[in-house]
Amino acid sequence: MNAHTKISEADERAFLDAIDKWIEKKVAPVAMQLEHADEWPADLVDDMIELGLFGALIEPKYGGLGLDAKTYSRIVARISEEWMSLTGVFNSHLMMALIVQKFGTEKQKDFWLPRFASAELRGALGLTEPDAGTDLQGIRTVARRDGDHYVVNGTKSWITNSIEGHACALLVKTDPDAVPRHRGMTMLIVTKNDPETGKPMAGIRNGRKLGKLGYRGIDTGEYIFEDYRCRADLCLVGGEEGQGFMMATGGLEIGRVNVAARGVGIAKRALKEAVRYAQIRQTMGKPIAQHQAIQTKIGDMAARSRAAELLVEDAAAAYDRGGRVDLEAGMAKLFASEAALENATEAMRIHGAYGYSKDFILERLYRDAPLLCIGEGTNEMQRIIIARQMVARNPA
Ligand SMILES: Cc1cc2nc3c(=O)[nH]c(=O)nc-3n(C[C@H](O)[C@H](O)[C@H](O)COP(=O)(O)OP(=O)(O)OC[C@H]3O[C@@H](n4cnc5c(N)ncnc54)[C@H](O)[C@@H]3O)c2cc1C
Repeated sequence: MNAHTKISEADERAFLDAIDKWIEKKVAPVAMQLEHADEWPADLVDDMIELGLFGALIEPKYGGLGLDAKTYSRIVARISEEWMSLTGVFNSHLMMALIVQKFGTEKQKDFWLPRFASAELRGALGLTEPDAGTDLQGIRTVARRDGDHYVVNGTKSWITNSIEGHACALLVKTDPDAVPRHRGMTMLIVTKNDPETGKPMAGIRNGRKLGKLGYRGIDTGEYIFEDYRCRADLCLVGGEEGQGFMMATGGLEIGRVNVAARGVGIAKRALKEAVRYAQIRQTMGKPIAQHQAIQTKIGDMAARSRAAELLVEDAAAAYDRGGRVDLEAGMAKLFASEAALENATEAMRIHGAYGYSKDFILERLYRDAPLLCIGEGTNEMQRIIIARQMVARNPA
């Protein structure tokens, strides 16, 4: 089983109500302006710390909420209905935390998890490099053992939370010549400041903040390591080299459920906006909702939204039962991200010129949705993973 607290339906409702109220009061009034300005949402991040979201999936004994994936994915979907970027701030952080929670030594869990749950250290997942994304085994960042330390050199790119965050679960090569390649891969926890003294560490710095089509407000950038030294007892996750690839791919399953939940949020919001606008906008003497061409769009959008939601519930339930959920998480991620993209496009068409206007949310949904088809394993790769699982689970 994945470690989590199964909260009662009443408690889940109360928590989701609190999230809804926060979204309405605090997020909705500022999301558009912050997103257009590509401004870090400092006050909203403070609110999310207060709500406990940085510890959402961390066990209560370490100070987290220990929520199950079902409740967590509902939270992510609701926030994404208003502003998807916010979910990236705590989700990448939680992927880092889950790597420690699932695979760390007892000492590492006791050391890192309370700091992650309280958001004293907010973090990132550092896999991608300028020359390696899908082909993770092609990374070049190297960590060399030197006594009780590791010395890290290399560059990571496209790392969300790398600029505003303080820590990172970093995939490195400890044996660049290993065959197969994944046997030489290791996961480290690295920090910008010494986690005990708070003093800045040498050899770790940010490169460029990357400009993006959507998913703005949240920072995505480069991490550069030049003879960066970290303590092996704290930074080598699980105390053993060669396990990093497995940890990265294991960590990605909840990431895929999260991306799928974001897709649900965008697909549902696009549908809501379309249904509302189609009743208000009149052409040829009647609301456009009465034109068949618009009705077929809304029919497809509604079916896609609900199907995406059900696939996410299914994947979250499978994750909560424990074990590998590549198939369920992959199907949810593939379908919900494509649903988000299609619904965002259709809602924009239904709004005509207003869909293209920066005064309305449609253009933002349209810019945010494509990321979901790329991140946490591209949809091209999801199809391959799903097919492999179908064959593996159904031998002829
Ligand atoms: C906004 C944003 C935020 C991100 N945040 C993070 C983060 O926090 N941490 C992190 O580590 N990474 C992050 N990423 C990187 C993301 O995970 C990668 O972009 C993704 O894994 C794809 O890698 P790539 O961009 O190198 O594409 P490539 O791997 O170069 O792929 C290019 C194309 O080829 C296809 N392709 C590649 N290999 C195959 C194959 N074997 N079969 C079929 N098709 C294939 C891909 O599907 C894609 O269409 C982020 C990316 C973006 C855009």
